[in-house]
Amino acid sequence: TLSAGLEEIGYRVATATSGRQARRMIRKRSFNVVIADIKLPDVSGLEILEMVKELNPEAAVIMITGHASVETAVGAINEGAYAYILKPVAMNELENIISNALREQRLLVENRELVESLQQSNKRLEEANTALEQVNQTKSDFMAKMSHELRTPLNSIIGFSEVLLNRKVPVDPETEEEFLNYIHISAKHLLDLINSILDLSKVESGKISIEPSEFDLATLIEDVKATILPILATKKQTLKVEIEDGISTIFADEPKIKQILLNLISNAHKFTHRRGKIKVVCRRENSHQLHYSVIDNGIGISLQDQQRIFEDFGQVQRGSRTRGQAGLGLPIARRLVELHGGNIWVVSELEQGSTFTFSIPTNHIGSS
Ligand code: ADP
Repeated sequence: TLSAGLEEIGYRVATATSGRQARRMIRKRSFNVVIADIKLPDVSGLEILEMVKELNPEAAVIMITGHASVETAVGAINEGAYAYILKPVAMNELENIISNALREQRLLVENRELVESLQQSNKRLEEANTALEQVNQTKSDFMAKMSHELRTPLNSIIGFSEVLLNRKVPVDPETEEEFLNYIHISAKHLLDLINSILDLSKVESGKISIEPSEFDLATLIEDVKATILPILATKKQTLKVEIEDGISTIFADEPKIKQILLNLISNAHKFTHRRGKIKVVCRRENSHQLHYSVIDNGIGISLQDQQRIFEDFGQVQRGSRTRGQAGLGLPIARRLVELHGGNIWVVSELEQGSTFTFSIPTNHIGSS
């Protein structure tokens, strides 16, 4: 019989002798190929086809038909049967049809997998695109804020110099000096701003890298003090330094640590009242990390603002901004700290003061 012949060439075959039995079998498990005689006792070939399409839609249905029912068989092909074969069935013909059907099924599966993987790469592409768009958005936000920051001092320079140049309206010497002073301050602010932006873009473009060396921390702090004390003196502020015992030589990028400290101390100076107290503390957090803190008893930062100040141009609006504050100092400090593999954060309370701390991993910390 047919099934014996198919089993001989390696197929697993299940045989049903009635439509009901066939339905039960197809319900139970799925077949790759269903071979249906157009004339089973209780069911027509077309009904089998319908049943397979419903219960086992992946299966290829091959109709077996006598010459008398060729028309029905052709109709079955139109309804979605895979092929029909005439009685008496030639084994090699049937085998051909089956192997074709199986190959097509495999192709279908492969195709489906291909489509799925294409869809997945598409999704990844879309995600990459979204990320790119975000970068773009951030960049244009940055440009917008930057041009605003640049325009502010420029407008002040243009405005005050225009008044001074306008000879028709005389300006008394005191006002003249005041205006010149505004121009001078704005120009200096502009220079600071441009330098900061250049710093920032150098770090961003990866042009700045960490060049660590071994140096003496106390000496570095003395350097920082020498630079900053004249500035602190303008508001009669004091600076105290505490270096934990046992920390002497450290291994890091000296100029960058200095820049970060100067940055934080000059912020402490800006945002602390006259005669305020500023303190720098260096201590060992654990065997491979140093913590540097700059502590002030100044105006403090609200919890809400603490979230923004490390972002580019994330300065805090407090009424009128009098001094050159672009909100780039902390973002630069953050990047320099991160280049070292460290972190920077703030603990602060309004009207009480702020503590900015950054951690620097230290490969080896010598002890005295
Ligand atoms: P800038 O000082 O140029 O505004 P920064 O990035 O250095 O830029 O600081 C961002 C903002 O964070 C400041 O405008 C200020 O509002 C706040 N801030 C920074 N340091 C302090 C501090 N020590 N005390 C209070 N506020 C501070």
